[in-house]
Amino acid sequence: MAFNSDPELRTARNRLEARSAELRERVSRVRLDLQRAHQPLPKELSEAAVAVENDEILEAIEESALGELERIEKAISRIDAGRFAVCEVCGAHIPAARHDAVPYATQCERCAAR
Ligand SMILES: [Zn+2]
Repeated sequence: MAFNSDPELRTARNRLEARSAELRERVSRVRLDLQRAHQPLPKELSEAAVAVENDEILEAIEESALGELERIEKAISRIDAGRFAVCEVCGAHIPAARHDAVPYATQCERCAAR
């Protein structure tokens, strides 16, 4: 298929995969930190409060990384299906400049702004 040899799509796919690997690493690091944080209970109450706060931050980081990973997976499958540059809402062409700004965009700028 033509889209596999399209250098623009190949670049977009490589970029998405690199970002995906980065996010996966971040998620596993956060999970390790969370595990470690849960092992010894802090003796001081103030320490415990800090630990809980850190957990919440780590969980927020994990959640946002997982959300982005999901969008990246979707974008990669759209590349493989030959629909990467087709807006999922209106079917308009999504210009490469939009994917430069938002690599996992699935909608044209007009639909995304709605
Ligand atoms: Zn659209």
